[in-house]
Amino acid sequence: MIRPVPVNVPLFGGNEKKYLNECIDTGWISSEGPFVEKFESQFSEYIGRQYGVAVTSGSAALDIAIKAVGILPGDEVIMPTFTIISPALSVINAGGVPVLVDNDPVTWNVDVDSIAPLLTSKTKAILIVHIYGLPVDMEKVLHLAKKYKLLVIEDAAEMHGQTCNGKKCGSFGDISIFSFYPNKHITTGEGGMIMCDDKEVAERCKKLRNLAFEPDKPRFIHYESGWNYRMTNLQAAIGVAQLEQIDEFLKKKRFIGEYYQNGLSFLSRYGYQLPLKETPYASNIYWVFGLMAPSKKDKNEMLKYLTAQRVGTRPFFWCMHEQPVFKDYSFAQQKFPVAENMARCGFYIPSGLGITESDLSHVVKTIQEFYG
Ligand SMILES: *Cc1c(COP(=O)(O)O)cnc(C)c1O
Repeated sequence: MIRPVPVNVPLFGGNEKKYLNECIDTGWISSEGPFVEKFESQFSEYIGRQYGVAVTSGSAALDIAIKAVGILPGDEVIMPTFTIISPALSVINAGGVPVLVDNDPVTWNVDVDSIAPLLTSKTKAILIVHIYGLPVDMEKVLHLAKKYKLLVIEDAAEMHGQTCNGKKCGSFGDISIFSFYPNKHITTGEGGMIMCDDKEVAERCKKLRNLAFEPDKPRFIHYESGWNYRMTNLQAAIGVAQLEQIDEFLKKKRFIGEYYQNGLSFLSRYGYQLPLKETPYASNIYWVFGLMAPSKKDKNEMLKYLTAQRVGTRPFFWCMHEQPVFKDYSFAQQKFPVAENMARCGFYIPSGLGITESDLSHVVKTIQEFYG
């Protein structure tokens, strides 16, 4: 009998139902409820930041972050081509100009050493996206930013609890963001948070998530555009319960990663690349467990086989310079060979927190059987 293993199953092992019931019993279900501020202050404290502003998604957090730090039309923002589309959309929708960077083939993150030659008088910010479980070397990024007086925008959507040189991801950017989508280390269903240490920027984020209502002026009179990106008390209630379990969740993520590293190390004999276990500044937290096939053809054959065996997979991100939606932007003409190869040959296997040890063993066995 074929046994399905989904690519992600979330884990609710704590007070999620209890806190949700509190919301219903007290009638506080909108963004006005007490769990929102509780979640903001507890998660900021966990990450080591002064302010957290809870919003409806990681993508919403990026929209607000880009606007709150003052990216204006024509400003160039250095960012990886290999990312989910959200940061590129936020920059472009603000009128900013993405200046794309290729990846490092070993860490699968942006190649920080190729940033400096791209800087111009219009460069305003470096937007960092930590990919799949290993952070970007932030010491290098912060050094560049300081030297050239650039803002750092940090997308830590895949990095709850991960550290870089012992300091938490999400604490490095002038502004940083997280997502709480169900495949992230903690979830609120949909949700996100913006983090910073500047009171004025935090106030600005709060205003932008609330349709840019002016806190100290007559209601319903607006001086700029904002969004309704307010997180609800229901989402925050789940977030508070999830945060109580984060240490166990991170332990489980590392357990899943190590299980696959051991069970699948044989794949390197067939030309596969497995995730890097560690760098001098961090050890992998395995947000997802990615694999790089030796070729696009090998990847497609493996995905076809795993789908038939009902083992869930997802392809890696598709590069920004190859997105049909961005075909008219000048970066669409550029080539980024490392990132292109990752997009063509990479995929990830079931790595959600709800996975059981027997699921893990089943996934490993299924992949072993592909090679007889
Ligand atoms: C998940 C993710 C996002 C988007 O978050 P949503 O909550 O799904 O909008 C942004 N950036 C990265 C790196 C992500 O992994």
